[in-house]
Amino acid sequence: MSDLDKYKRFTVTSALPYANGPLHIGHLAGAYIPADIFVRHMRLKRKDIVYICGSDEHGAAITIKAKKEGITPKEIIDKYHTQIKKSFEEFGIAFDIYHRTSSQIHHELSQKFFLNLYNKGEFLEKESEQYYDEEYDQFLADRYIIGTCPNCNNEGAYGDQCEKCGTSLNPMDLINPKSTLSGKAPVLRVTKHWYLPLDKYQPWLEEWLIEGKKNKWKSNVYGQCSSWLKAGLQPRSMTRDLDWGIDVPLEEAKGKKLYVWLDAPIGYISATKQWAQENGKDWELYWKKQADENDESCLVHFIGKDNIVFHCITFPSILHAHGEYILPQNVPANEFLNLEGDKLSTSRNHAVWLHEYLEEFPGKQDELRYVLTSILPETSDSEFTWKDYQARVNNELVAILGNFINRVMILMHKYYEGKIEGNTQLNDKDLKSQIGVIYDEVEQSIEGYKFRQALSSVIDLARLGNRYLTENEPWKIFKTEPEKTRLVLQNSLHIIAHLGTLLQSLLPGASKKIFSMLNLDKEVVFYDEEIVFKDGHQLNQAQLLFEKVEDEVIEKQLEKLSRKAEENIAVVEVAPAKENISFDAFASMDIRVGTILEAENVAKTKKLLKLKIDTGIDQRIVVSGIAEYFEPEAIIGKQVSILVNLEPREIKGILSQGMILMAENCDGKLSFVAPPENISNGSVVR
Ligand code: ZN
Repeated sequence: MSDLDKYKRFTVTSALPYANGPLHIGHLAGAYIPADIFVRHMRLKRKDIVYICGSDEHGAAITIKAKKEGITPKEIIDKYHTQIKKSFEEFGIAFDIYHRTSSQIHHELSQKFFLNLYNKGEFLEKESEQYYDEEYDQFLADRYIIGTCPNCNNEGAYGDQCEKCGTSLNPMDLINPKSTLSGKAPVLRVTKHWYLPLDKYQPWLEEWLIEGKKNKWKSNVYGQCSSWLKAGLQPRSMTRDLDWGIDVPLEEAKGKKLYVWLDAPIGYISATKQWAQENGKDWELYWKKQADENDESCLVHFIGKDNIVFHCITFPSILHAHGEYILPQNVPANEFLNLEGDKLSTSRNHAVWLHEYLEEFPGKQDELRYVLTSILPETSDSEFTWKDYQARVNNELVAILGNFINRVMILMHKYYEGKIEGNTQLNDKDLKSQIGVIYDEVEQSIEGYKFRQALSSVIDLARLGNRYLTENEPWKIFKTEPEKTRLVLQNSLHIIAHLGTLLQSLLPGASKKIFSMLNLDKEVVFYDEEIVFKDGHQLNQAQLLFEKVEDEVIEKQLEKLSRKAEENIAVVEVAPAKENISFDAFASMDIRVGTILEAENVAKTKKLLKLKIDTGIDQRIVVSGIAEYFEPEAIIGKQVSILVNLEPREIKGILSQGMILMAENCDGKLSFVAPPENISNGSVVR
């Protein structure tokens, strides 16, 4: 019995990923695989459960990425929402809904939440001075201000953090602050914001969390919360001067948006609402307090450790202030996953990307799921290496699990043409009790958020099966003891069926294959269902569950990672210098700033894009050899430098008028030569 048994209903969430980039294995190990196992497990116990996720589509994370790619925030979120959703589906994370925070239903619910707190007088209204970019006529998000770090003198520190020394900063701390929009020094302007009085909630948080969750929450989570509370909480602004996000629903707050960490967790609720609408359910049962406390849902948030404060302190405070909502029963946050001795990094491209894995390892979802589950950073940071991936697949999945199942299936076909006869239940007291112990272990582990342990218990069951075969050696006694041979093999089939049952949550793909080999084609096998083979039941042919990973495969992945690393090292080969030219020769080149209006691939070529450019002088067509590095959709709207007085020439039947300037490194990687901030088309480059 775990303390979750008393709940009939569960509301499970995984952190809403920012729709600003693809998923990598760190995401999976942090918040998605553990939640998916938990949810599938609870479904096998016939619990009423909803599993919620979606894209987080507001905040500076989105606008900065949009600016970087030269497209609008809407284009960014549409692109990555689609990609992320597809990767999750292919990988097999079993959300009931994957929603998005740009939806109408979410905007409305977030505004309603804000107004509820506002009308109760919960918010502190405060005016303060904030940095403002006069040229761009807007207040600057912390990330939009750079300057010199007061701690380490790094000249590229951001308004919220210096990435060089790790110090967390306020924009006012920066020496020589500059706006990243105009490049100019920002000015201070007075602005009004609405603050959540976390200091006021501190006594309540101490009771609910510090007293109430002691020895119940994981120590890494509890520890972080208690040090935040020890340091003392400050009011936190719930509104921002931004132009991307949800409007603050107040007349006097025109142009202001809700803080992304106010709206994002409400996204869990709005997604549930959407799901309920589509499925004829009552969303309030999953989120609101009930007249009978025993009828309340058990709310569990799966997240990575960088999200702890928002899920354990801010969001519960908001729910508490609102009053009608339940609070998280647990927040089993994971630590970080490292890769090959180094931190995962999106900007340095040091990652194993999920969409690339799915493409390069088709049908091998369970292999990755197995390895990541084995090394989940449950209590401290852990590390993924490709060698370890290979070793775990070969020595555990292939040699223990796959081998046991394969041996039994082959012998059943060899001796009995795959037909079961006579006794149809598991007929061995020892085996029965050992299997019972394993079920208890798996249940205890999953409900204690120890997924590594749960997986290792299931592998122990396969070990048990192998031992049972070795001890009884059916291949030796087939001639002399035909009855015992049949008994041993049919008992082994029961072990396989139990493996299939337990693996439904841990390795759903393998479980499906197992049931299909056994010719038991049920959607689900609940834990409380007994598997009985009918006399005469016909097994299907054995299929290979897991394939050995060869050295070449691993070497290729390691090469790919080091290639990426090299691209990031500043010391690179340099092309040889050219002869001097006259000033006149230089001045004769008419280089202008232009904007890409349209882009498409040139048919039957790999390298060429046909671009339509607004040069300020005219709109013209340029054929450019950049297709291997840029998606046409991604560069529309981008500013470029273009040599406009190059003699026109025909390329693949298209008249190309001019040349786009590109920087090319020694590996042939291309990037646009463009002004760092927008400037009018037709501006002269000299
Ligand atoms: Zn610093």
